[in-house]
Amino acid sequence: MNTTTVLETMFSVHGKRPLEAQFNEYLKVFDQIGLNDSVKVFEHVRDKEDKFPTIRQMRGIIGNLGIWGKPKATIQYDDCYYCQGVGYIPYLLSPKTVKKISKYTTTVMACKCSAGQDLPESVQRYFDVHKSVQFEEEEEGELKDVAYPVLVTVKQTEFNDILRAKE
Ligand SMILES: [Zn+2]
Repeated sequence: MNTTTVLETMFSVHGKRPLEAQFNEYLKVFDQIGLNDSVKVFEHVRDKEDKFPTIRQMRGIIGNLGIWGKPKATIQYDDCYYCQGVGYIPYLLSPKTVKKISKYTTTVMACKCSAGQDLPESVQRYFDVHKSVQFEEEEEGELKDVAYPVLVTVKQTEFNDILRAKE
């Protein structure tokens, strides 16, 4: 058993079929905490949660289970929709406007939350440059409740598929 199979089981127990990008985002969290703690999270979600948690909620569960907050853990930042507490927000670059790239690519900029503010000043501040994020939070459909970085990854894949279809 590895973190991937634990996560697959967690989704299937709740009758959920995740998008690939969404799955990978959850998997990053599981890989951060390791197999044993992932199993604890899975068991908690299976036994105690009626609804499948968003990534934000899952980070909360991990905190409540005492998995984070062990001495050597780095500073805990608030959960943030835009950056998931990492500090970086992905920004999608289009080959139509950026000559150097041949397909949609992401770059990262600093978030406005405390995690973003703690990044070096050399990292460009997202909201200094852009009034709002590129993609609105989806109100319904399969992208509802996904974290913003996941939304960007999904859009990137979509746009690149369209680009490839035109070639
Ligand atoms: Zn943030």
